[in-house]
Amino acid sequence: MSQIEQTLVLIKPDGLKKSLTGNILTKLSETKLRIVGAKMVCVNEDLAKKHYQHLTDKPFFDELKNYIMGNLQGEKYQRVMALVYRGENAINKVRELSGATNPEEADPTTIRGAYGRITTKGIYENVIHASANPAEAEREIKLWFKPKEIVDDLYPVVKTDTGVKWETLYNKVKI
Ligand code: UDP
Ligand code: MG
Repeated sequence: MSQIEQTLVLIKPDGLKKSLTGNILTKLSETKLRIVGAKMVCVNEDLAKKHYQHLTDKPFFDELKNYIMGNLQGEKYQRVMALVYRGENAINKVRELSGATNPEEADPTTIRGAYGRITTKGIYENVIHASANPAEAEREIKLWFKPKEIVDDLYPVVKTDTGVKWETLYNKVKI
């Protein structure tokens, strides 16, 4: 079954630091999906915690937060490129090109297989994030983007005195 979906992609700090932005965007262009949102983000602890809320209980959570906040081997590289891709089966198409979570297990032709590594602390520095399912994509897109930063209408919005906001705010759902 095919359907129009949107998915959040992050080029993580290691991907930017390794100058892989062009390579990753070129690889993702194989999907023929449309980019409907793109920006650079300086990731703070609050955003890191919310993004990885499903891993809060893991022993590597602090290291994972450090990683997405750009603390790479003691060097600060606090930036992420956030993108929203849209089109038929966008979620699976991007996940397939991204590859398995563990870069050593990822197929070498995938983004993670080609460019990822496992740090000495055991974190998978796998250069890209991609939403795993429609619920995760919705939560993550609403976490990282405001409605006016997306060129298509993705989800319902509500009007406020200062503009519009997503109808279901990420901070009102369980985080
Ligand atoms: N991660 C890790 N070790 C693990 C599991 C996950 O370092 O054993 C990191 C890795 O960077 C991964 C991120 O945590 O991309 C989020 O984990 P998730 O299970 O959601 O995998 P993903 O959806 O990114 O493939
Ligand atoms: Mg995930």
